[in-house]
Amino acid sequence: MDTLLDIRNLSLDFRTTRGRVKALRDISFPVRKGRIIGIVGESGSGKSTILWSIMGLLAGNAEVTGGEILFEDRNMLTLSESSRRAARGEEISVVFQDPMTSQIPVLTYARQMFDILYRRPNLSRAQKREAAIDMMRRVGIPDPEARVDQYPHQFSGGMRQRAGIAMALLTGPKLLLADEPTTALDVTMEAQIIHLLQGLQSEFGATIVVVSHNLGLIAELCDDVVVMYAGEVIEAGEVHDIFHHARHPYTRALLECDPARVEKVTRRLPVIPGDIPDLTRPRKGCIYSPRCQRAMPTCHDVDPPTAATAPGQFARCHLLEGPHADPTWPPPASV
Ligand code: SF4
Ligand code: MG
Repeated sequence: MDTLLDIRNLSLDFRTTRGRVKALRDISFPVRKGRIIGIVGESGSGKSTILWSIMGLLAGNAEVTGGEILFEDRNMLTLSESSRRAARGEEISVVFQDPMTSQIPVLTYARQMFDILYRRPNLSRAQKREAAIDMMRRVGIPDPEARVDQYPHQFSGGMRQRAGIAMALLTGPKLLLADEPTTALDVTMEAQIIHLLQGLQSEFGATIVVVSHNLGLIAELCDDVVVMYAGEVIEAGEVHDIFHHARHPYTRALLECDPARVEKVTRRLPVIPGDIPDLTRPRKGCIYSPRCQRAMPTCHDVDPPTAATAPGQFARCHLLEGPHADPTWPPPASV
């Protein structure tokens, strides 16, 4: 399968008054064309930072210290700002967590969508309006001919998120990024947005990257998953495989806390005992070792190997490969 986006060895620091926060460390994973990939992790694990790196919209105190983000073979990290802006408008777009803050309250949806289509001088005003109405209809907004002239505050939360998705899809992007797209919504609306994204994926063949701390959403919506812990990818692969056969102790702990893990859409990440490591301090060994129930002395000193678990899938743990590999690990899933 073709790779649309390839993140390779990405490392990123934030300069803060407390020192450098090593927010991303050696992140690598491919995003395959036409797939929906979920990035899951606790807050502060770096999942949103990956999205902002792809968009080239990082905070001023962020510094990429290594790696590349290849989008159809262009490195997004070294593109000129104007090429990056062009890619962002036309080829990559984003759906935000809270449409109330990402949409412009004083402009009607028609006006906001005209602005998005500013790179299409050959389209008349009437054609742009038609495109806006058509996209609103496709995302399930009733009576789009009238509602296109309304303002964000005249929409309910769920309808506002649909409008956000319509705006993101207006230019026909190859890649859609979504940062916690349903967090501001209730359970019913959340399910509707998930089904909408799935429908759009099959209709447009779009490639979607979704960031979420909601395991149920990932299980329901995604083909592939990347599990992050404290700035590292600790396991990645196909959702079906990982949800039924996780190899990393952290992923197992997340999933085993919830027997109905695959079925429920509302599932939030469970709390695992122990603290997230301080990312300003230099680290030795496995990032998860202070909290891991299976930690061995070597885990505190030696970086775990990246073990291939299936074609295109991997997990980072001493139990899986090398001199400390445990043939009885992982135990069969308890459900
Ligand atoms: Fe646990 Fe060691 Fe595996 Fe890290 S490498 S997840 S500490 S067993
Ligand atoms: Mg976030």
